[in-house]
Amino acid sequence: MHATLPLLRETDFPPIRRNKLETLQVNLGYRCNQQCLHCHVNAGPKRKENMDEETVNQVIDYLKSSDVKTLDLTGGAPELNPHFRYLVTEARKLNIKVIDRCNLTILSEPGQDGLAEFLAENNVEVVASLPCYLEDNVDTQRGKGVFDTSLKGLAELNSLGYGKEHSDLTLNLVYNPQGPTLPPSQVELQASYKEILKEKFDVDFNQLFTITNMPIKRFGSMLISKGQFADYMQLLRDNYSASNLDGVMCLNTISVDYNGDLFDCDFNQMLELPLKGKNQRAMHISTLAQENINDKSIVIADHCYGCTAGQGSSCGGALGD
Ligand code: SF4
Ligand code: SF4
Repeated sequence: MHATLPLLRETDFPPIRRNKLETLQVNLGYRCNQQCLHCHVNAGPKRKENMDEETVNQVIDYLKSSDVKTLDLTGGAPELNPHFRYLVTEARKLNIKVIDRCNLTILSEPGQDGLAEFLAENNVEVVASLPCYLEDNVDTQRGKGVFDTSLKGLAELNSLGYGKEHSDLTLNLVYNPQGPTLPPSQVELQASYKEILKEKFDVDFNQLFTITNMPIKRFGSMLISKGQFADYMQLLRDNYSASNLDGVMCLNTISVDYNGDLFDCDFNQMLELPLKGKNQRAMHISTLAQENINDKSIVIADHCYGCTAGQGSSCGGALGD
């Protein structure tokens, strides 16, 4: 059974429309050195999808022609794309803020020499996954040895000034639940992370983002195989909070896949729900500058309840914080 099918029936999620575009979230490919249980991308070492140079240049051309303020790079492990450093450098020349969604272990991978220094030199904001401050929990979700290698990555980033007081290098961490539950309070969990990571491992960071697991791809399949899909969807619906609608990330963000195709968000990309432009044709980064997407209605389905449940969830963590 396909994990995404239960979401694609008609939804009663409220209609939402786009505001001004501020962030381009670019998925550089689905290859990753890890293969985490909760991954909504199904990323892993065997995935071959990668954005090619021509499409990377189309992204750069769009950045030149628009007043987008932030380029948010994701994957897979975005750093595994051979054009990653080129894209970052070009965006920074345009004075665009760049975010790297980094899994931390990539910093220790062969072929990634000087990655941390490169990120620091270009003042790239690092958003790093660390779903727990306990080794067992991290290794269960993300693979054996991931916790230790992640700490090594954090130490390297801290040594360059990331996450340190009076430094302009930002290091934010991401927490997501181990199973089919909503994240706890972001404010309270951040306080625990700060205290325990400092005390036990001398790690500093700026903010903790708590992110709700989306019931799609690997996490969705896991829910289906354990017979928990319907209950998890019900949990998301039962905790719907209308005040979160104003903060969902699709209002000001567009997701670009490795082919340059456009989606309202990364989750819609995984569900193959494209953003359609003139004549109802799927939109592409090469023609985005010619489209007016302000006020355009957003493609919604039941998974959208994952963004509005409880304290809300986005790539920047809980909503309204
Ligand atoms: S969750 Fe992130 S680090 Fe884990 S497999 Fe997916 S892309 Fe890779
Ligand atoms: S899942 Fe995507 S389209 Fe739906 S509310 Fe969240 S960000 Fe918007």
